[in-house]
Amino acid sequence: MEQVQSLEFAERYSRQILFPPIGAAGQKQLAAARVAVVGCGATGSALASLLSRAGIGYLRIVDRDYVEPSNLQRQVLFDESDAAESLPKAIAAARKIKSFNSEIAVEPHAADVTPQNAAELLGSVDLILDGTDNFETRYLINDFAVSRELPWIYAAAVASYAVTMTVLPGETACLACVFPDSPRGMVETCDTSGILNSAVNFVASIASTEAIKLLVGAGDKLRRTLLSYDLWTNDSAEISTAKPRSGCRACDQHDFAHLAGEGRPHITLCGRNSVQIHERQRPIDFDEISRRLTPHGPVRHNEFVLKFWTEPYELTLFPDGRAIIKGTTDAVIARSLYARYVGS
Ligand SMILES: [Zn+2]
Repeated sequence: MEQVQSLEFAERYSRQILFPPIGAAGQKQLAAARVAVVGCGATGSALASLLSRAGIGYLRIVDRDYVEPSNLQRQVLFDESDAAESLPKAIAAARKIKSFNSEIAVEPHAADVTPQNAAELLGSVDLILDGTDNFETRYLINDFAVSRELPWIYAAAVASYAVTMTVLPGETACLACVFPDSPRGMVETCDTSGILNSAVNFVASIASTEAIKLLVGAGDKLRRTLLSYDLWTNDSAEISTAKPRSGCRACDQHDFAHLAGEGRPHITLCGRNSVQIHERQRPIDFDEISRRLTPHGPVRHNEFVLKFWTEPYELTLFPDGRAIIKGTTDAVIARSLYARYVGS
C-alpha cells in the first residue's frame, strides 16, 4: 500500500522531480510544507493553483470576498457556477483545488485578516503569500511576518504592471523598509485602472517560484530585489532589498503598529462600489434572517452566504455577521443599512 502511494506521488510530480534543483528530496519537502495564501482573487487564485498543483502539502486560503461574473476574466480557480452561487472565494477555491489535487490539505477561511485573528489565519505556516489587493492588509502581513520571523512574498498586479518582493525577516528588507507609507501611484486599483490577466499570472509565476525555492532550501536562488515589470511597455526596474533599512519601523524598531492596531470597522473593497462591515462577530441564522428580510426585497442564501437586494443596494452577509454592502462607498450609509436589516 505504501509503495502504491509513493508510486502515485512519483508519477503525479514526475516532471517536477525531473527538474534537478527540486528532485525527489525537494518534492518531499514541498509535501511537508505549509503555506498561507492571503487573498484569493486574481493573484491569490493563480498562486494557489500553481502551488497546489506543485504539491504543497498544506495550503490555507483566506479571502473575505465572494465570486462575481467580472472575476472570471482573470481569477483562474472560479467558474460561472461559482459566480451564479456567489460562493465565497476561499470555499470555491478549495473545491476547485480538490478536483485536481485531492491529496493535499486545503483549509479555506472566508474571513478578513485583522489584527485580532492574524495569529490564527497567518500563523503555523512556513510561508505567507500575498494575494491581497490593499496595503492595509499587506502592512498587517508584514508586521506579523517580521514579528514572527516568517518569510512572506509581496505580489501585486494592476493594469499591465506587476510588482513583487520576497521578504526574509532578519535578512532582507521588509515591506516597511521599502515603503514606509502606503505608496502613491500604487493606490490605483483594478477598479480604476483595469487589469490584464497576463500581468496577474506573471506576478504569480514569479512569486510561486520564489516560494518553491524557499521551501526546498534553495535560499541562495531567491531574488533580493523589489522587481517591477510592465508587460505592455516592457519597462522594468529592480531595487535592491538585500539589507534591511536602518531605522525601519518594523524590522529595526519592532514597532508593529498595524498588528497592534485596533480593528478596522469598514473597508472599501477593490473593484467594486462597496463597503465591508465587520464591527463585531455575531452568528447569523440564515433561515431566520431570510424570513425577516423577505417582505423587504429579494433574498437568497446557501450555507455560506446570504444575499439581499434593496434598490440600489445589494447586501451580502456571511455566517459570522460580516457583510459587504454594494452600491455605496459611504460607510455611514452602509452602517445604517446593516443596522436596519441585520441588527445594530
Ligand atoms: Zn523593514
